[in-house]
Parts: sequence; structure tokens; C-alpha cells
Amino acid sequence: MRTRRPTIPIRLRDIVIGGDAPVSVQSMTKTDTRDVRSTVRQIRNLADAGCDIVRVAVPDIEAAEALAAICRESPVPIVADIHFDHRLALAAIDSGVDGLRLNPGNITRREHLVRVVGRARERSVPIRIGVNGGSLPEDYRPEEPLPDRMVALAMEQVLLLEELDFRLIKVSLKVSDARATIDAYRLIAARIPYPLHLGVTEAGPPLTGAIRNALGIGILLNEGVGDTIRVSMSGDPLLEVEAGREILGSLHLASPGPRVVSCPTCGRTALDVPGISARVTEFLRTVKEPIRVAVMGCVVNGPGECRDADVGVAGGDGKVLLFRGGVFVRSVPAEAACDVLFEEIRAVLQRREFKHDNEQR
Ligand code: SF4
Repeated sequence: MRTRRPTIPIRLRDIVIGGDAPVSVQSMTKTDTRDVRSTVRQIRNLADAGCDIVRVAVPDIEAAEALAAICRESPVPIVADIHFDHRLALAAIDSGVDGLRLNPGNITRREHLVRVVGRARERSVPIRIGVNGGSLPEDYRPEEPLPDRMVALAMEQVLLLEELDFRLIKVSLKVSDARATIDAYRLIAARIPYPLHLGVTEAGPPLTGAIRNALGIGILLNEGVGDTIRVSMSGDPLLEVEAGREILGSLHLASPGPRVVSCPTCGRTALDVPGISARVTEFLRTVKEPIRVAVMGCVVNGPGECRDADVGVAGGDGKVLLFRGGVFVRSVPAEAACDVLFEEIRAVLQRREFKHDNEQR
């Protein structure tokens, strides 16, 4: 049984991070923040995909001011990502952001940080101390291993914020290596009571990004460490959210949502498993309900997996076997398999909605 590491919770609008709150999923917009329309559109798409919190880059004062409209229109909490210039942090708070991310390596003057912390306290805006392995000062404890250096830098900042009587703190220690990430978070988890934002950063394109993050984030979450996650990858941010949700679902830390079970295919395959499973996955992208759909290439393992699914198909001899609620229903022509699956999925979701509505009455 996994024991969650106890932490002092913080709140960003209606999302609580830490304590016994569910682990939340974050992502970051990849638009120009000054382009409010595109940024809000991307935030809404992320929210629809299951993203709980969205971070936006604030490279200049125009972007900081654009945050006012973005925050107003965003359905989820917005975190401003600030580097180098403390005035951008102040402007972002004035624009109404729900959280700040500061990199302790690059806001160096204490008086600047004091001003930001003072304004954040006035508005109850939590601050993430976001240490990034790639931006540690070169001469900072060069003789120590990277995880130790990152933790030491984060601890300096934690102590500084505590000295200023500020405790709406969250910490991240990101680096592109999954093993170093795990080591760093394990170290800091034993030293502070604040929530941890997990992620492996600069993790590469979607496939490697998903694998490195699943390992780094997944191993820590499975040890009870971590309160919010961001899967970082070079590509569509919707994939980051999908991967994050999949990590939580796989560890039973969140409702699994829709799950497509499909076989790897082999010489027995009698069905376009890759094509159909990709179309079904796309079809389910905006569905939040837990529904299990099996797409299996033949009758070797097909009926077994379909028996555990709400809806399933298994390739047969020139036909496809359709299962509903684990029970064989009928055979359908192979070319109709996808359309029949969509119909069955819609029917399952409608039945659930009907049942749910009746239970509410
Ligand atoms: Fe091969 Fe059938 Fe297994 Fe798919 S279910 S991998 S087609 S044996």
C-alpha cells in the first residue's frame, strides 16, 4: 500500500495541490502569450483534454499584461512562468495569475525577490520554486552531484521565502535525466513539507518524452512523492496531458478515463489493429468517462481481452467478432468494425448518462 508523503496544501483557484488532494496534471502553452486569442484557445483545448492547471511563458511586459485577459477567459488556473526580470512577476500578479513559477538561478537580487514575495503574499498567490538542472549557475557547488546541487539551490530559496514568512510554496527540480530527477526529488522530499511538482524536462519528442516522464514521475508517485505533474515533450501539449493522465490512471491515482486495449499484432492478425485503435483513441479524446475498449487482432487473446472490456472487437475468419459488456454479440464485416465500435461506444456512454440522470432525480 502506497503512503502519500504529507504536505502543506496550496490552492490555485479551485485546484488544491498537496495534502490529500488528487494529483493534478499541468501543461504549458506553446503559443505567443501576447496573442491572447490563440493562447486562450490552446488553454481551453488543454482543459478539455483534462489539464488542471496551465502555465504560460511571460517573456516581456506585453505578455505580462496580456495575462489579465487570459486569466479572465481561462477555465483553469494560470501560472506565470517568469525568468530574470522580477518586474514581470509583479505585473503578472497584478494581471490576476493564480500562481508564479520562479527560477531561483536567475532572479538574483534579494530585494527583487522580497518585492515579488510581498506582492504574492498580499494576493495569496503561491510560488513554485522551479529549479532546472540546465540553468544552475556553473560555479554553484561544482564538486557535488547534480541532484544535490539542485536540492541545495532549492533549499536556499525555500529558506529565503520562509524568512519572509511566505509558505505558499511548491518546489520542482527538473532535469532531462530521469534517474537524476528521481534522486533529486527523493532528497528534497525528506527535507521540506511543501508540495512537489514533478516532471522530467527537456525530455525530447513525444515517444522519448513520454517514456522518460513515465519513469521519472511514475516511480516517484508510486513511492508517494509528488502532488502535481507535468509531462514535458517537444510537440503538441495535448499529448503532454494525455500522457500525464495515462500515468495517473496507470498508477490508479485518478479515474482511468477511457482506455483502449489493443494487441501488438503478429502474423495471425486479421484486423487493422493499429488503424482502428488510433481512430478509437481519437474518438475518445474528449471523453472523461471510464470506458474500456478492446481492439484485438485475432481470436487467440481477443475474446479474453474483450470479455474485460465494455466494448471490443476481435479479428476472425474474414469477419470481426463484436463483444458488448464482455459478451459476444455478433459478427460484422471487417470494413465496418470501426463504425460499429463508435456506435457501441456512443450507446454505452448514453446508457451511463441516462442512469446517472435517473440517480440524480
Ligand atoms: Fe497476434 Fe492475436 Fe495476440 Fe494480436 S491477439 S498479437 S493478432 S495472437
